[in-house]
Amino acid sequence: MTHPAQPKASHFINGEYVEDTAGTPIPVIYAATGEQIATVHAATPAIVEQALSTAKAAQKEWAKMTGTERGRVLRRAADIMRARNHDLSVLETYDTGKPLQETLVADATSGADALEYFGGLAASLTGEHIPLGEDWVYTKREPLGMCVGIGAWNYPTQIACWKGAPALACGNSMVFKPSETTPLCALKVAEILIEAGAPAGVFNVVQGMGEVGGALVTDPRVDKVSLTGSVPTGKKVYAAAAAGMKHVTMELGGKSPLIIFDDADVDNAVGGAINGNFYSSGQVCSNGTRVFVQKGIKEKFLARLAERTGNAVIGDPMDEATSFGPMVTENQMNIVLGYIEKGKEEGARLICGGNRADKDGYFIEPTVFADVTDDMTIAREEIFGPVMSVLDFDTEEEVVARANDTEFGLSAGVFTKDFTRAHRVIGNLEAGSCFINSYNDAPVEAPFGGVKASGVGRENSKEAIKHFSQVKSVYVRMGDVEAAF
Ligand code: NAD
Repeated sequence: MTHPAQPKASHFINGEYVEDTAGTPIPVIYAATGEQIATVHAATPAIVEQALSTAKAAQKEWAKMTGTERGRVLRRAADIMRARNHDLSVLETYDTGKPLQETLVADATSGADALEYFGGLAASLTGEHIPLGEDWVYTKREPLGMCVGIGAWNYPTQIACWKGAPALACGNSMVFKPSETTPLCALKVAEILIEAGAPAGVFNVVQGMGEVGGALVTDPRVDKVSLTGSVPTGKKVYAAAAAGMKHVTMELGGKSPLIIFDDADVDNAVGGAINGNFYSSGQVCSNGTRVFVQKGIKEKFLARLAERTGNAVIGDPMDEATSFGPMVTENQMNIVLGYIEKGKEEGARLICGGNRADKDGYFIEPTVFADVTDDMTIAREEIFGPVMSVLDFDTEEEVVARANDTEFGLSAGVFTKDFTRAHRVIGNLEAGSCFINSYNDAPVEAPFGGVKASGVGRENSKEAIKHFSQVKSVYVRMGDVEAAF
């Protein structure tokens, strides 16, 4: 019997599901059991061509609609997503393995927020009038054209919406390639946009591995590439886009610092560290995986952290009582287990977890290491799993320097009751998305993105509009033209 997660076909192009079984089969594995629940096929060159030519043609008509009309489509799509939140959350859980407890509140809902927010902005995207005596300049905010979105596997619905919604609001079209690990959810986003009244071809989904992404990025008809992925992939995609002088947004990895001062409220700081390390089993780019704890509060913090981490409910992600799910794939589980071994070998003190959980599927216990030093592998590399490194520090100056000593710069957080210090520390940290007495909040109203190797550009908020549009300026002369001859 066909599993309910099996899509009608692999791709969604020009308003409908499209199949080409000549493409390499991609199995979709449910991470909680290891069972294959669906199959899609990687896009063949014919499918890539169909998607690009369709999106190119559809963009012109879409851009001619008024902002109000485009916004209405996006806002209707948001309503449909909210109405179907439960089914979409179940699909998200099948796609990623994340517990339903999370997907019910963080995925289709966050996608719907993006559709609603950018739908609301679409009608207000205007230019300026710049008076110059009798002459004037006016500016127009124009779409970039055809955009390519490429997703990571941790938030398949959210990533499709965070890229698709601002792109469409500005009058662009999009060809979106989900991660080959989680190909299911973006198809639903495409389906819902059509149902909401988007013209066929404005938002298309094609499946495939990196080579399909590469074919999209290098096509000369593509005007912009927005990638969510790892730093090594980001460097390749950025270089390929640069060769064609294309616009880019790069949402990449991190190894973000979370700094806890002696005067912090211990339970809030522990809560921040849990949210910043164990949500989605640690598969979140902005996670605060280097938790710097000032020496005076350290043992109290560790004791409370171990106690609360012991309350994680690890198990069937479809059970709403479950608060901690599996790694997305067997491969990712083995990578993370390898880092845990490294942590032990390099002399970090294991506080809790540290093992594969005794279950089917790809579960790892939430793991905390203390006495981690800056040079240890687990403190330097992005693990993308539930492994928290706790490092000690004495002074503010020291911790800021150590926190910044990384190629990454996605996020940073600070817990303290001293607000002057909180703002000073955040001011000195090299990171794009920061938190004071909180961690990992990502409302659509706030810009999101990194500095240094963690990325270029911003998603969400009005900032995203700048990255999916460009300004045309027009000089208007009222009098005669003076010329030298
Ligand atoms: P990945 O870099 O392996 O893959 C990301 C996407 O890029 C996939 O769709 C993949 O098929 C595609 N791709 C790979 N090679 C390509 C190429 N040469 N040309 C075009 N496309 C190519 O990342 P992943 O393992 O899926 O996701 C985990 C990574 O993503 C982590 O590093 C994580 O921090 C990062 N991430 C960042 C954010 C953010 O917003 N900053 C959010 C989620 C995940």
